[in-house]
Amino acid sequence: MKTRLLLLALFISANVFAQDLNNIKIPELIKESGRKTVNVPDILGYKTLKCDFHMHTVFSDGIVWPSFRVDEAWNNGLDVIAITDHIERHPGKTHVGGDDNSAYKIALPHAREKNIILIHAGEITRSMSPGHFNALFLEDTQALDKQDWHEAFDEAKKQGAYIIWNHPGWEAQQPDTTKWWEEHTQLYNEGMLHAIEVFNEQEWYPIALDWCMDKDLAPHAATDIHGIIAERYDLEKYNRPMTLVLAEERTEESVREALFANRTIAYFGKHLAGKEEYLKAFLEASVEVQFLNKTKKESRYLLKNTCDVPFQMQVKRGPAFTIPANGETIVALPKNTSSKFLVKNLYTKGTENLTVTLDLKK
Ligand SMILES: [Zn+2]
Ligand SMILES: [Zn+2]
Repeated sequence: MKTRLLLLALFISANVFAQDLNNIKIPELIKESGRKTVNVPDILGYKTLKCDFHMHTVFSDGIVWPSFRVDEAWNNGLDVIAITDHIERHPGKTHVGGDDNSAYKIALPHAREKNIILIHAGEITRSMSPGHFNALFLEDTQALDKQDWHEAFDEAKKQGAYIIWNHPGWEAQQPDTTKWWEEHTQLYNEGMLHAIEVFNEQEWYPIALDWCMDKDLAPHAATDIHGIIAERYDLEKYNRPMTLVLAEERTEESVREALFANRTIAYFGKHLAGKEEYLKAFLEASVEVQFLNKTKKESRYLLKNTCDVPFQMQVKRGPAFTIPANGETIVALPKNTSSKFLVKNLYTKGTENLTVTLDLKK
């Protein structure tokens, strides 16, 4: 025992002496790595998965390596991503090499390490019309590289792809007004259009939400990031834009099922856009109303919000107020105020807001 202790003491002192006095670490400079929690409720018996289905790497016109997209997504609190490099545009090809499947192949092992679900995908990149589309759940992205855009869509459909019309209001392609073309009717009728980005990068297209609701397509929000998320977005203020997917499980198969069933909410800044029943459930799962006291003229309530989305409420013939994200507020509502509230930052149509009834017990 004594020998052992002596050996241990010698080992410790040897280690102390082994420190290189010409290499002293300054650890306070290094950022603590950590995943942000995106605080949104699970609703209607589903898990609310945080997804970005539109991003680029050096394998098209982005500036980052594919595995970086995984780290970024992890740090930003996402569950699911799709790398959607342009199938027809490879400005870095001579330097980078590879093909349309390379980004997925490179990022996949890292995605598994980081517990991020990575969807095999690509961006069909054509002039208007029909424009740009993300094809998700591909087997072979390279096979979509066709001369004629019809053939690219046929191939995507053959592979069982989920197809999203990207940035329909992008000025470079729709300079005058955001319109739906005959080609989109054709794609829609042939089962080659499942969703539309009602939000892309920093642009919100209200009319695209109307199309989604009228034609039973899923609304999406995506960053379409080419550079670096932390440089592009003010993450102190808001989460990065994302599509919330209401999935049965946190698996790729469940994401696919939920997407084809249109269970999505577009989430950008302080805004949510989607089906009334989803937005209503989202708000009801986040807000708690507590009666405080009353006078002859008014009643006071404490309103608590447990999610990252603030709610900008407007009462009919009454005051407007905000229930802050992850916070609470006290409101005084005049006697006989309607319990129906308009939620100004939640959209069920391009120009329509969600209406909710709060339980104002006295
Ligand atoms: Zn695009
Ligand atoms: Zn893109």
